[in-house]
Amino acid sequence: MLAYRHAFHAGNHGDVLKHLVLMLVLEHLNLKDKGWRCVDTHAGAGGYSLRSETARKKSEFARGIGALWGRRGAADMPAAVARYLALVGEFNPGGTLREYPGSPAIVQALRRAQDQLSLFELHPSDSRALATMFQDVPGVQVRLADGFEALKSQLPPPTRRGLVLIDPSYELERDYTRVLATVREALTRFAEGTYLVWYPQVGRVAARELPRRLQALAPKGWLHARLTLQQPDERGFGMAGSGVFVFNPPHTLHAELAACLPWLHAVLRQFDGGGWLLDQRAA
Ligand code: SAM
Repeated sequence: MLAYRHAFHAGNHGDVLKHLVLMLVLEHLNLKDKGWRCVDTHAGAGGYSLRSETARKKSEFARGIGALWGRRGAADMPAAVARYLALVGEFNPGGTLREYPGSPAIVQALRRAQDQLSLFELHPSDSRALATMFQDVPGVQVRLADGFEALKSQLPPPTRRGLVLIDPSYELERDYTRVLATVREALTRFAEGTYLVWYPQVGRVAARELPRRLQALAPKGWLHARLTLQQPDERGFGMAGSGVFVFNPPHTLHAELAACLPWLHAVLRQFDGGGWLLDQRAA
């Protein structure tokens, strides 16, 4: 039985980085009329109340979306961060931060009639929440299934345009190797697709090695972005930050993130240190 529930972590700094990049990729796909398919292999519950006991237990959102929320309208805010906050604002009419959209809600907000969304989630309650959220919504399918396994059934999309979000909880050590195997397989079916893999910066060898091993799989271009914001505890535990690895990134992504990461680091950092990284290999 899976113990991880994203409700404890929703809106944290990992979500901020991941969802900012998700938004930027979808905005780029939307520049053309031709429809796309987004596959979210680890979809979570879809959306989260930040007022719930679960979210307030460690209030991780306060050091993520909460810290940005107070800066809305700041003159030095990068344009992409302002658009991300406007997107989160659509779920918070009235201006008080109460709800945080999960990746399915973010994709749905940016999806057009011609675009498809496929959501996989293995936790029964989260999968039920998703099914309720998207009941009778045309173009969206929700399945209680292993997203690593199910991805192959979705590729390639009929229009050969699409994004795959791979966002496991990394609760199990084998998630790291499954990410690699899944991407390797998926690229044989849909080499031109964009793939966004999120990973936590934790004291595990597999986590440290993941970006280098993903790079080795990329037949064409890739982009790697990371934000380090927190000091691990004295035993080396805890999430220092997180990264996203993007296969076949939009050509505009590097410039957009170069404008955002220094600002995000300055606003979100929790100690006098850390930093940000942005690296790419153009196709
Ligand atoms: N993508 C979501 C977002 O950004 O809002 C957050 C997802 S959370 C980090 C990871 C989710 O994956 C959890 O809800 C967990 O139950 C689910 N999960 C774990 N193993 C899975 C698997 N093999 N297939 C599908 N879902 C899985």
